[in-house]
Amino acid sequence: MKVEIITTGTELLLGEILNTNVQYLSRKLNNIGFDVLYHTTVGDNPERMRAVLEQAMQRADIIITSGGLGPTRGDITKEIVMEVCHTEGYLDLDTWGRIDAYFAKKGLCPSQNNEKQAYVPIGAEVLQNDVGTAPGLWLEYKDKIFIMLPGPPSELTDVCEKQLLPRMLQRFSKHGIIMSRTLHLRGIGESMVAAKLDELIMAQTNPTIALYARYGEILIRLTAKAANDKEAVKLLDAMEAKVRKSVDNYIYGVDDATLAACLGQELLKQGKTIAFAESCSGGLASSLVTDVPGSSEYLLGSIVSYTNMAKQKLLNVQADTLAKYGAVSRETACEMALGVRKQLGSDYGVSITGNAGPGASEGKPVGLVYIAVATDNVVYCQEHRFMSTRTENKLRIAQTAISMAID
Ligand code: ATP
Ligand code: MG
Repeated sequence: MKVEIITTGTELLLGEILNTNVQYLSRKLNNIGFDVLYHTTVGDNPERMRAVLEQAMQRADIIITSGGLGPTRGDITKEIVMEVCHTEGYLDLDTWGRIDAYFAKKGLCPSQNNEKQAYVPIGAEVLQNDVGTAPGLWLEYKDKIFIMLPGPPSELTDVCEKQLLPRMLQRFSKHGIIMSRTLHLRGIGESMVAAKLDELIMAQTNPTIALYARYGEILIRLTAKAANDKEAVKLLDAMEAKVRKSVDNYIYGVDDATLAACLGQELLKQGKTIAFAESCSGGLASSLVTDVPGSSEYLLGSIVSYTNMAKQKLLNVQADTLAKYGAVSRETACEMALGVRKQLGSDYGVSITGNAGPGASEGKPVGLVYIAVATDNVVYCQEHRFMSTRTENKLRIAQTAISMAID
């Protein structure tokens, strides 16, 4: 089945927000075997939206829209889809009741505008929205399926997970499915993984194996084609077992695993605490660690010590060390790790100091970073070179520090 995704919203065209909905939808749909052939983005303009929908009907079987289901005049997606499909809307009392209940939960009343969101095209099925007001809609016209989804990402993903994807799988299961599983590895480079899996990769058919590196970790993506979920899982299990024979020691998680969550599990298991002293990463490592619910159990706190003065005052880094070796040095990194561990009384102290770019500083090259981990009797430090943009470097530096802390 050919799918076109149409994301709507002038703010997307202005570059004000990142189009995460299209990425999410594409990933999910590809995973279950649909061919997403086109991404289109259009502003909140009736003529252009109509043209885009008409074009999509020429080249796709399933047309999915995101956004423009809100209560305001600028929200026009449903109205234009109804025009294109030559249908009209009616006030769906079930949906109206749900909108009413949604507001009541917050101690509010829906406004007159919200009634617009309870209008359902004749012939459409409602895809219930449990976290917002506008429901998704599934409307069939001739041999095309129009699926309208709310724009706010939390609502779009909720409607997809609970309503849309199960429905699509059920409706199109005879076409077979594609299922993927991603294994996350740390402490090993991409070429080493490729070498270890060489035979498997050469012989791959179904499932296929793809390798890629991402911010301080390596991902192995297995993708199986099968008649149904159960068969796909069986194929993936068998391939995962083969992969594990070669690289099991490096695999730290599956699918949605993150380095920060892995660090959290490890610390909880050991009953130990941690603190970060961050310079060039600006607190990003701590931010990633706190993305994990329950991180207050083990992250005592962090110190973002950006300047030499802050390193001295907050972490007790010696002026001599800074003068002799510079802020971007093994020596400073070690003193920072020891310092934060002492200041916060944690079991582990992790420090990051380096030059995230784009210009050299202290005569040291861009991307040179020292990461140190201090425990009660030892501090060890690694030197790294990161070669991307400043923003990417920061993420890779933070991820690498978290990965080092797991050891
Ligand atoms: P609302 O009821 O909030 O008006 P809606 O279904 O009409 O919802 P939009 O008005 O298009 O949707 O978007 C609502 C918000 O959702 C936007 O302000 C934006 O922050 C976010 N959003 C919309 N489209 C996308 C997208 N493609 N990717 C990421 N975020 C998006
Ligand atoms: Mg809107």
